[in-house]
Amino acid sequence: MTATNSIDPAKLTLLLNELRLPAIKHIWPQFAEQADKEGWPAARFLAVLTEHELAERSRRRIERHLAEARLLPGKTLDTFQFEAVPMVSKAHIMALAAGDAWLDQGANLLLFGPPGGGKSHLASALGLALVEGGWRVLFARTTDLVQKLQIARRELTLQAALNRLDRFDLLILDDLAYVTKDQAETSVLFELIGARYERRSMLITANQPFGQWDKIFPDPAMTLAAVDRLVHHATILELNVESYRRRQAIDKKPGPGRPPKYATKANTGPD
Ligand code: ADP
Ligand code: MG
Repeated sequence: MTATNSIDPAKLTLLLNELRLPAIKHIWPQFAEQADKEGWPAARFLAVLTEHELAERSRRRIERHLAEARLLPGKTLDTFQFEAVPMVSKAHIMALAAGDAWLDQGANLLLFGPPGGGKSHLASALGLALVEGGWRVLFARTTDLVQKLQIARRELTLQAALNRLDRFDLLILDDLAYVTKDQAETSVLFELIGARYERRSMLITANQPFGQWDKIFPDPAMTLAAVDRLVHHATILELNVESYRRRQAIDKKPGPGRPPKYATKANTGPD
């Protein structure tokens, strides 16, 4: 005789539904059989089931956070070649990927560098590592997010929209410098930066250094104030490398158009 004979499995299913314990509902018959067979103490059976429910809950939460994060597909820290950006320390990035102190403090991370240098890849890969570590992240192209906030402002729901972004420990604004003049004029980006200041972290990527941010905000005073807030508690990394794609193409292609002196190994010395 098995233990299930003495209870009503259909009723148990209803009770587990009521308690919102879907993982236990799914797994208990299997563990019950094993427990009966191996003679587990009742306390062990209960412990195994609750641990299973908790593990499943955390897995589902991370899955939800991953879906809402809108990260770039396939960009991971594993596939990021740190040798290509010698000015960036892998140990430093790995420490940032653990989250903890900087996200708790609402500090920022700013990535600068020319197009193709790996800013978006690194930003998204950091976001992925943080989501896997239990943090909530949103990756957005800055112009897309600014457009949404502009619509919210027009509908008088800007504050609510900013509040909704508060649930993210990290907001990644990719390509800040691509904000257009008419987007700058509504200054929603300025309000976003002010709303998160010293509370919620931002990771910003930009092709242009601060000196060329005058088009992003309505006037120089606002630009100054925005930069001031962003850098107050910030790590700034400059990925000043040539385009990764371009370098890869050059490395691979000994094809036509290359000067003959680079065509063979023997001739690669200085002129
Ligand atoms: P940026 O955002 O700075 O313009 P991206 O991150 O979009 O540059 O990089 C361009 C392409 O090159 C992407 O496909 C990216 O995955 C790849 N890439 C750039 N840097 C690296 C790197 N260090 N290691 C691996 N792939 C890289
Ligand atoms: Mg980019």
